[in-house]
Amino acid sequence: MKLNNFVGGAWLEGAGAGDALVDPVTGEEVARASSQGIDVGAALGFARTQGGPALRQRAYGERAEMLAKMGEVLTANREEYFRISQINSGATQADAAFDVDGAIYTVKYYAKIGKALAEGKMLKEGATLPLSKTNVFAAQHFLVPAKGAALFINAFNFPAWGFCEKAGPALLSGVPIVVKPATATSWLTQRMIEDIVEADIFPAGSISILCGSARDLPEHVREEDIISFTGSAQTAIGIRSNANVLRRAVRVNIEADSINSTILGPDAAPGTDVFDGLVKEVVREMALKAGQKCTAIRRVFAPRAQFAALGEAIAARLGGVKVGNPRNPEVKMGPVVNKSQQASCFEGIGKLKQECKVVFDGGGNFKPIDADPQKSAFVPPTLLACENGRGAKFVHDVEVFGPAATIVAYDSTEDLIAQLRRGMGSLVGSIFSNDAAFVRQVVLGIGDLHGRIMVVDSSVGGQQTGHGNVVPSCLHGGPGRAGGGEELAGLRALLLYHRRFVLQGPPSCLEGLAGLCVDASLVHS
Ligand code: NAP
Repeated sequence: MKLNNFVGGAWLEGAGAGDALVDPVTGEEVARASSQGIDVGAALGFARTQGGPALRQRAYGERAEMLAKMGEVLTANREEYFRISQINSGATQADAAFDVDGAIYTVKYYAKIGKALAEGKMLKEGATLPLSKTNVFAAQHFLVPAKGAALFINAFNFPAWGFCEKAGPALLSGVPIVVKPATATSWLTQRMIEDIVEADIFPAGSISILCGSARDLPEHVREEDIISFTGSAQTAIGIRSNANVLRRAVRVNIEADSINSTILGPDAAPGTDVFDGLVKEVVREMALKAGQKCTAIRRVFAPRAQFAALGEAIAARLGGVKVGNPRNPEVKMGPVVNKSQQASCFEGIGKLKQECKVVFDGGGNFKPIDADPQKSAFVPPTLLACENGRGAKFVHDVEVFGPAATIVAYDSTEDLIAQLRRGMGSLVGSIFSNDAAFVRQVVLGIGDLHGRIMVVDSSVGGQQTGHGNVVPSCLHGGPGRAGGGEELAGLRALLLYHRRFVLQGPPSCLEGLAGLCVDASLVHS
């Protein structure tokens, strides 16, 4: 089966043999993807000239209704998406739910909150500013939807959510989308878009998809376009530094890799609820999607006094995680996405082992349930321990994009903060502690280098939303190494797809335009 591209309002087959998509359990090919021969410049042009104007003819509220219909279509086809997730991503039921249900929830969320923008066509920001003594000349700031296309270049680990978390805010803004999913798992994204197109919800040109290589896509973007990229820091650098992107100052949002941390407070001894809560969270983060989450815990900081005990507790729990073929209902953790990711995980673990002890790796006898180790792409859950975090290099730098985490000892709050900052900017850090002064000091010490910080004390218990779970009402993104991007955070996500300008003129002129506007405080709140 070859995945067709949807560009210029038509389904087109790419040229040549294309790249193979595989089942990571059996190693068998399940589909092929090719973007060769597709005129990617024309695809972006069609989105700009057909999709954009048609979308922006409608008000925000009407586009919110379209998103609601999109949510219904995706819900109706949910079972098929779970099936594809299992075949092409090796996803367990929980893994598929995390991606697919997360995607549907996010689309429905934007459909719901987008209604508040009602009849507006653009946003008015702040009050009118007097610029003359007699008030015949004044100024007003506006936010207007970009007249370009939004190009989404996505990572392989969230073929459903990665597409929808970007699509919701862009389409609500009135900006058409051109989606380039990671080739390895593009089948699911392509199938979702096929269902949406079939349902005839959005005007022609609103949604396009390119399967297979990105080819020279960044060469074709223009100043009115937006690139929203999720993937590795290395690919991000190439996109960000593309000469055309730089020359036209194209807006680029980057969500890249991240060395995320969880922290056990100095007050949390074995047997306390916060200690147990952190142990559960680490194991959940390692097993869910086999650790292939940009937000997954990579470093587990423990006060030196609890370093050994924490390792034992996590290892004991990891011993109960059944790893294997997700078709077996007992299995709790599946494979990574393909052999190349498996090799990359083993390479990263090899580096970490140079400065860490192995606490748990399933032992030499690791054998996935109902799968051939030769053909499949499993990585055993691997827990490492680093006694000398200050002297370590790889622990703070190597992102093993799989089920691996390292416990790192700290000696004081200052030492902890210094080590956390060596992640050079992360998506998320979580703190498990009842020591309010310690929590405050850590938050102040790392807030500038983390997009999200989650604090769990005894009062929160099991009601926390999850270290690795991104909720659409809250900011997703992180500074520095994490890419510097910002996504979600409710209606604030719309800012990426709007451009700010200030209009200076007679009040009657400002008021004429203001009549088309919704107050942007709705978006900023
Ligand atoms: P990747 O190799 O960087 O690929 C990401 C996307 O970029 C894919 O669609 C890929 O297409 C495309 N691409 C590759 N070369 C390109 C080029 N020269 N120009 C334009 N596009 C190009 O990353 P990945 O392996 O799919 O994803 C894993 C990484 O993503 C991890 O490091 C993870 O931390 C990060 N991630 C971050 C977030 C976040 O929100 N911060 C979320 C998920 C994942 P092909 O597949 O066709 O090569």
